[in-house]
Amino acid sequence: MSLTSHNPATGAVLQAYPSLDGAGIERKLALASDTFRSWRLTPMPERALLLRSAAALLRKDVQRHAERMALEMGKPVTAGRAEVEKCARALDYCADHGEALLADKPVDLGGPRAFVTHLPLGPVLAVMPWNFPYWQVIRLAAPNLMAGNVGLLKHASNVPGCGVALEQLFLDAGFPEGAFQNLAVGSPAVAGLIRDARVAAVTLTGSTPAGRSVAATAGEVLKKCVLELGGSDPFLVLPSADVAEAARAAAQARVINSGQSCIAAKRFIVHAEVYEAFRAAFVQHMARFRVGDPLNEETEVGPLATAAIRDEVASLVEDAKDHGARVLCGGHALPGPGNFYAPTVLEEVPTSARAYREELFGPVAQLFRVESLDEALRLANDSDFGLGSSAWTRDETEAARCIRELEAGLTFVNGMVASDPRLPFGGVKLSGHGRELGPDGFYEFVNRKSVVVAG
Ligand code: NAP
Repeated sequence: MSLTSHNPATGAVLQAYPSLDGAGIERKLALASDTFRSWRLTPMPERALLLRSAAALLRKDVQRHAERMALEMGKPVTAGRAEVEKCARALDYCADHGEALLADKPVDLGGPRAFVTHLPLGPVLAVMPWNFPYWQVIRLAAPNLMAGNVGLLKHASNVPGCGVALEQLFLDAGFPEGAFQNLAVGSPAVAGLIRDARVAAVTLTGSTPAGRSVAATAGEVLKKCVLELGGSDPFLVLPSADVAEAARAAAQARVINSGQSCIAAKRFIVHAEVYEAFRAAFVQHMARFRVGDPLNEETEVGPLATAAIRDEVASLVEDAKDHGARVLCGGHALPGPGNFYAPTVLEEVPTSARAYREELFGPVAQLFRVESLDEALRLANDSDFGLGSSAWTRDETEAARCIRELEAGLTFVNGMVASDPRLPFGGVKLSGHGRELGPDGFYEFVNRKSVVVAG
């Protein structure tokens, strides 16, 4: 059995990677368990040094890593380089701050010595998506390796080469064999891995159905589980906004990662007073993006990662049209080989259309006109998801209401949502639970043990 990668720009087969059989999985689990016993005792400065070494290796080889992503999942190479640089920053952030954040925290009990200490849990299984194939993995691996956990990566089946490269990165950086291992398996193997007694906890970044399945198994065996799931982020534009800047950022926020980002803005909710001006500028930006070969330095929007994703986007757009939505630009797949879809703006998508409720994982925007802030907030929150949100206004009272009332894990005012190694990241509602990144990223998979020394 093998996992095979395809070039989404051409459809060509790139490479077949042998997948692990039962004995192979057993070897990796045993090694993870053995390695954890010594890794948990490694002094923090030593762990930090290894994270820095991984960061340096990424920086040295940015182009090669970016090209791998371009070939396996179609990310434009300029965005790939930025992703690799960001991974290096996250590794450095964890090396810089891990020791202090994970240090014992004294508690004043007015008598006996008391403190909270942070102990690693063990091997953490990370089930990861293809859309940011380096970043998603590093943002989980870096704080957990720093905390003394070891990692088991089950990467998405369409990016097997990225999984192999990340395992090699940690080995080349000097981590012990077994500190971070890639498991070349498909999703049917995940439940068995979660149930294995040597796996301490699991995290999944991916779709809501996959989250449900992982959470159900983790619940069955009562293991800690973090879920970073999908989103249908609202982007509110209110009358006092800088409309030209909002329209420029809105288009960028929609096509980031060729539209395949959990925190891409997907629903554009615009006040009637500025609707026409925003709409004209937004559609112009969306129609102008350069779509093409992800290896070309000029490309802004690449192919969708698989033909199935392109077909799903096309089907959501067709369904919206059938329900009366209007297409302002795009609205179709591009001819020729590869999974290309034209940047698209839809208007007047009714609540009965699938696109109104479901996550649109491609470069397709939905534009809504509202008469008031109340209506904007109501529409923004009329979603099963709650990941990111963006509000454009120069009115402080409106901004304060958006910050308080938007049901989301992140709200950016007058800016597009972005993840940052220093900022906790995660969602509410069907977007998942738990947090990665920032200080919180260190604490999800540690035992915060309370200690009292009475005598
Ligand atoms: P996906 O189909 O859910 O796959 C994600 C991972 O889960 C893959 O490794 C996949 O393995 C595995 N998987 C799929 N079904 C599973 C199941 N029933 N049980 C156990 N594992 C399962 O998602 P995707 O298409 O790769 O990624 C896109 C989704 O991820 C979008 O919804 C996006 O919004 C979300 N996402 C969220 C965040 C966040 O931080 N909140 C970040 C990035 C992406 P196989 O590939 O082998 O099937």
